[in-house]
Amino acid sequence: MKITKATLHAVRFPLNEPFIISYATYPDMPALIIALETDTGLVGYGEAVPDEHVTGEYFTAAYEILKEQFLPAIIGMSPFDIEAIHSKMNALMSRNPASKAAVDIACYDLMGKAVGQPVYNLIGGQATAHLDYPKVLSIEAPEIMAEKAKKAVEMGYASLKLKVGKGQAQEDVDRILAVREAVGKDMPIRVDVNQGWKSPGIAVAAIKQLEGANITWIEQPIRMGDIRGLAEIRSKTAVPIMADESIQSMEDLLEIIRLEAADVLNIKLMKCAGIFHAIQMAKAAEAAGMLCQIGSMVESSVGSAAGYHVAMSRINIESTELTGPLLFSEEIGDLKYEHPYVLLSGKPGLGIEVDQAQLDKLTEKSCVIK
Ligand SMILES: [Mg+2]
Repeated sequence: MKITKATLHAVRFPLNEPFIISYATYPDMPALIIALETDTGLVGYGEAVPDEHVTGEYFTAAYEILKEQFLPAIIGMSPFDIEAIHSKMNALMSRNPASKAAVDIACYDLMGKAVGQPVYNLIGGQATAHLDYPKVLSIEAPEIMAEKAKKAVEMGYASLKLKVGKGQAQEDVDRILAVREAVGKDMPIRVDVNQGWKSPGIAVAAIKQLEGANITWIEQPIRMGDIRGLAEIRSKTAVPIMADESIQSMEDLLEIIRLEAADVLNIKLMKCAGIFHAIQMAKAAEAAGMLCQIGSMVESSVGSAAGYHVAMSRINIESTELTGPLLFSEEIGDLKYEHPYVLLSGKPGLGIEVDQAQLDKLTEKSCVIK
């Protein structure tokens, strides 16, 4: 089986409401969708959501990189040769993990379709019975976040994820405590600072005030390059620390292990270049006694399904946050969310159907590589 043709689409997924985190406000979500076709008549889908703030990639640049570099390079290769495909992409260009992830995800979709199995059956099988997801709350005033949190509990969500990290750290502490007060003491609350606290000392002072609030973890309290600072925070506080932006490559993971800088890792296919490396990172984390989560850059059914297959296949991946399809007012796939769980279809590959008419409608520009 050989890849004979690639179609690249630049799309914008419209959001139900703007997504607000510490470093950006998104009115819509730009993404790149690729379709790889084989000489056996199969089509595999992949997705890239480049995040300029995290991996340094940009939507329009990623389009050109896929068009000029990665897609021409893999024409003629077998999607099963995933190590060789990554090796070829890495030889062409360093970094650019989201663009590489699009190729990787499409190759796994093709592998699954070729053998008639869901992707999780190729990478570890079903290690987890249920894949649940939290309600993600954007940064707002404490009373508004508290009100939205209460509604989420009424809707049946099993956990909350609060986005904070804007303004003074004390304002964030107020937001978090207001939500805890509103939802009672037992509802799991995860906090994502998205690098928003300005120093390890400021983070320690804020986290100290949260130690009695039953917070599941504090995610990425400080800037991503400061892994030593993350270790300092972890050594001085009693709330588990999750690394997100700080962990992109396997080298980052080794540094986090060396410095004992985190309890939990937020692995995202868009940071680590796809499924192939995500499962390796989860395995390395397991050896170091760390738990993992699969997160996302707010992806459609394509990227989200890929993340859920990885989560399904690993025992130490205990949580997922791939809620992109729930945030979009229009989408291209049919990944099934049933409060508070995601149900993978069990069909071959990613197990989703891509609606071609919808994809064409949301496409800003496209090209074909043969
Ligand atoms: Mg995060």
